[in-house]
Amino acid sequence: MLMSKGLEAGQAPERMNLERPEIVKEIHKAYIEAGSMLILTNSFGANRYRLQRHGLEDRVRDVNQAAARLAREVADEYPEVVVAGSIGPTGELMVPFGKLMFEDAVRAFAEQAAGLASGGVDVIWIETMADLQEVRAAVEGARSVTRLPVVVTMTFESRGRTMMGVTPEQLVQLAHELELSAVGANCGKGPQELERVIERISQAGCRVPIIAKANAGIPKLVEGKVIYDGSPQIMAEHAQAVRRSGAKLIGACCGSSPEHIREMRQALFFDLDLLQ
Ligand SMILES: [Zn+2]
Repeated sequence: MLMSKGLEAGQAPERMNLERPEIVKEIHKAYIEAGSMLILTNSFGANRYRLQRHGLEDRVRDVNQAAARLAREVADEYPEVVVAGSIGPTGELMVPFGKLMFEDAVRAFAEQAAGLASGGVDVIWIETMADLQEVRAAVEGARSVTRLPVVVTMTFESRGRTMMGVTPEQLVQLAHELELSAVGANCGKGPQELERVIERISQAGCRVPIIAKANAGIPKLVEGKVIYDGSPQIMAEHAQAVRRSGAKLIGACCGSSPEHIREMRQALFFDLDLLQ
């Protein structure tokens, strides 16, 4: 969405919060108008390690606070839209696989969460995680600076494991141990694979609300542009499928436009009418 509005490849998407705030707000508004009841701040990569690649490591708080304020300003024009403060992975591998120490990761996540909280988010939304240790660091960092609810979603690849080998069952166990407010899966290899992950989370006896946020299909490179092959109709059917499996918070990740959200919402509410 940001690229379609002028973000160049290689630029930090989060820089737009500071330099092109009206574009970020316009995108939030488009999703709410399409029926989103919860929006994520434009802060996925706004931790010091990722921002360092763009010379923004000294502005972690500003970037996150701005991201939260922009989403808040738009959400407040509508009744009951929730603003979730997006926190993605550091982009570094943690010890013993890489060099990132647990305490340093905690500090980086705390810094990001503090910025998001100061900008007025309703919930800390840790997403696209692959490593359980990094999840622990993110939750600990967030809780060291705010009492907001914390949710976690991990990204499962083929064969139902994250890049670091974590299973849906392990995630459920951690969600119970850390008393997360919700847990689930996001991104990954398209709606069908995510549906299987949601079923496993559900069957593992998950006691907290389940989040399902699939990519709109699989990315393909067509004439130099990244295109996702999941149509709004496919995502609408997917939304109904994950609800049947027990998901309570249903959305979409990469490649999903407001049009996808509109169809998904219609499908879910139509479904609800049938149940009544
Ligand atoms: Zn994604």
